[in-house]
Amino acid sequence: MGYAARAQIVDNYDVLATLVARDAGLGEIGRHSLLITPRLGTRVRLGLVTTDLPLVAHTWRSDASVLDFCAVCKKCADSCPSNSIPRTTVT
Ligand code: SF4
Repeated sequence: MGYAARAQIVDNYDVLATLVARDAGLGEIGRHSLLITPRLGTRVRLGLVTTDLPLVAHTWRSDASVLDFCAVCKKCADSCPSNSIPRTTVT
């Protein structure tokens, strides 16, 4: 159709795929900075297409259930050997 498009795949992203996936409503970003999806958790591999095709955007809504769970879980933070994952509440 004449619109520019680029595949964004593993190790070749021009965008932050987890943020794009979250904004697309696929899930929420957990304390460990990975996307957590409702059905598959973090067991997803992200691929996306960027384009200048005019699209209708929808409103992103935060999934409080993931954020609330992360607030009390903290397993990743507790087991991180370099203490790189914060124990403070994610927002
Ligand atoms: S705090 Fe728990 S639920 Fe949240 S990202 Fe870490 S391990 Fe997953």
